[in-house]
Amino acid sequence: MALSRTALLLLAMAAVSLLSADAALSAPATKVCVLGSGIGGSSVAHFLKQYTCESATAPCIDDIRIFERREKVGGRMATVTIGGDTFEAGASIIHPRNLHAVRFARLLNLNTKTGDDSDSDPKSNVSSSSSWFGIWDGSVFVFQTLPPPSPSSSAIYRKMYPLLNSLVLAWRYGFSLLRMDRFVKEMIERFILYYNDFESRPVFETVEEMLKWSGLYGLTHRTLQEELADAGLSSRLVSELVTVITRINYGQSVSISGLAGAVSLAGSDSGLWLVEGGNWQLAAGLISHTNATLHLHEGIDSISYAGGYYVLNSTKGNSYACDVTVIATPLDELNMTISPPISVPSRSLQHTFTTFVRGLLNPKYFGLNSASEIPDLVGTLELPDIPFSCISVLKKYSEEDMTYKMFSRAQLADVLLDQIFSKRKETVRINWPAYPHYEAPEVFAPIVLDGFHLYYINSFESAASTIETSAVAAENVARLIISRISSPSANAPLIISPHSAEGILHTDL
Ligand SMILES: Cc1cc2nc3c(=O)[nH]c(=O)nc-3n(C[C@H](O)[C@H](O)[C@H](O)COP(=O)(O)OP(=O)(O)OC[C@H]3O[C@@H](n4cnc5c(N)ncnc54)[C@H](O)[C@@H]3O)c2cc1C
Repeated sequence: MALSRTALLLLAMAAVSLLSADAALSAPATKVCVLGSGIGGSSVAHFLKQYTCESATAPCIDDIRIFERREKVGGRMATVTIGGDTFEAGASIIHPRNLHAVRFARLLNLNTKTGDDSDSDPKSNVSSSSSWFGIWDGSVFVFQTLPPPSPSSSAIYRKMYPLLNSLVLAWRYGFSLLRMDRFVKEMIERFILYYNDFESRPVFETVEEMLKWSGLYGLTHRTLQEELADAGLSSRLVSELVTVITRINYGQSVSISGLAGAVSLAGSDSGLWLVEGGNWQLAAGLISHTNATLHLHEGIDSISYAGGYYVLNSTKGNSYACDVTVIATPLDELNMTISPPISVPSRSLQHTFTTFVRGLLNPKYFGLNSASEIPDLVGTLELPDIPFSCISVLKKYSEEDMTYKMFSRAQLADVLLDQIFSKRKETVRINWPAYPHYEAPEVFAPIVLDGFHLYYINSFESAASTIETSAVAAENVARLIISRISSPSANAPLIISPHSAEGILHTDL
């Protein structure tokens, strides 16, 4: 008798769980609104749909609206056209172990090319043993790799050129190069844990939890310089090559926090790739593949919690009701009201001024006799009087006519450009609010901003800012949304605390 009662109880429990699964699957569709059509916004839409509509366990989320204040999708993945050719203006290179980006490109049938095949970008140039780069201290080149073989050089010299360049680097920096390589590899080994399957990877409610789980949190609490000193790198390598790389990738010095620094160094690995025609196609492709409703040129001015849902007011005077709202853009320079107000740690953005010039560099500016003596990539040391972080040849039309890309921390005035260039036919300037200004110890904004269903992908950017880190953060946000909307305590607020330590400045929005 006792046995049959237990059996009945089990049967009843099974029936209840089947009924509730059924009820969940037939629940009214969740309306999700996403602010921003960059890789963060497009990835969160993609993962939400993939993890629900392609699975039998959660109600399909396919009512997704993406709002983009600009006329184009892609955000900081954007191209520029100068002299009739198109080049990456923002995010230009992707690491071969950035698996989400690799899978997106495959899913969307996008053609890719490696940095070595493409017209040179500063980032792929510094990584390639077949590129000619020099480190300039404002007066002289303190170091440079070998100029590329001339058309008259022997076939054997051409073949040996990459090896000779590696030897030149090894001669200057010695075993420290191997230690740098190990430091970067260790970071990547931890980062790739974020691709583990669901069983071995929790859903994270805070960035701190996410970083602690992979063992990367410690790196956000010390500067890159401190980390590299502990890893045994020579001060020459740090003050020269590492400095050049962090200035190119994040416009900042080696005092940036360790994780951003390690990610920046990974940006000088080999095998870097990009999407032919522009990386922005990753975002555009994901949005159309997801079938999300895209509201181009419609920014969101305000988000108000209305008890159980959000009201979003747009620059076009429209209002939208959304069960879930995802902010997929940095809040730091955003003019938007959120009510009730939320609180995030203050974070300043590093502005990177990208200047494209079609013309010819002035050899005299570099103390040289001919433009042909100037390396294809000029990286610079961290010295106050150097007005730019790097200059790189993007395309050579002839010995007298090239397109260059420059990064600097301040706008480059015409009068300065006229000293740097002897000829200047066309100039395009972009002022990017590019990435956080990294300062250890990093403090992270919450992922769930209000404890309900207002999510923030770009809190992860305080760890590092790349196409892939945005996709990884977005994937976690998608899983978090799914787990929270299907949990019985969905409407109970999440207690948010980690960022509210004393002494940390907060911005109320
Ligand atoms: C010059 C530069 C070089 C870089 N190089 C690389 C690189 O080589 N490799 C790499 O991996 N990463 C690189 N990055 C970093 C990379 O671009 C970013 O980390 C990544 O693209 C961020 O994507 P996101 O979707 O989070 O944000 P974003 O791309 O900034 O997208 C946010 C979107 O939200 C929109 N938006 C803002 N406010 C609103 C609103 N109120 N309503 C609606 N829409 C709104 C914006 O217009 C924007 O389109 C670089 C960045 C810059 C600036």
